[in-house]
Amino acid sequence: MNNGGKYFSGKTDQRRLSCQHCDDSGMDDDFMINANLARKYAGVLMVVNSGARCPVHNKKIGGVANSSHVVNVKTGRKAKAMDVEALNWWMVFKIVYGLNRAGFKRIFIYITITKTLRIKPKHIHFDGDHTKPQELLGIKTYHKGKSGGN
Ligand SMILES: [Zn+2]
Ligand SMILES: [Zn+2]
Repeated sequence: MNNGGKYFSGKTDQRRLSCQHCDDSGMDDDFMINANLARKYAGVLMVVNSGARCPVHNKKIGGVANSSHVVNVKTGRKAKAMDVEALNWWMVFKIVYGLNRAGFKRIFIYITITKTLRIKPKHIHFDGDHTKPQELLGIKTYHKGKSGGN
């Protein structure tokens, strides 16, 4: 198992980067190198919400079959996606800046809308999946327990 480099090498991060239902792990090495670079450039905490998901867990939370989060210990497929917390719009800006500087070209900001129609950030999904359309920065509505299909 790769140790995730400097920023994401701690026990908590490693646990959070593993499948939250069965502990299967396997983040792509190049992805983690770039994620660590992004963390360095962002200069703010990037708390991991989600990393690798086994196919069973991915299906359960409504992820698409080719989700970049999917890890498969049988086929050797590695996960190339991470969701990190974003508590406010300044954090969103810093993290998106860091991701851009580190070369990430697929970024989705998940938001919630309050009863008074305020738009609040929730988490940021980014992946290094080159089989999917590149140069995408999108906003998606967060639904509890759902992966949003990335
Ligand atoms: Zn699992
Ligand atoms: Zn995600």
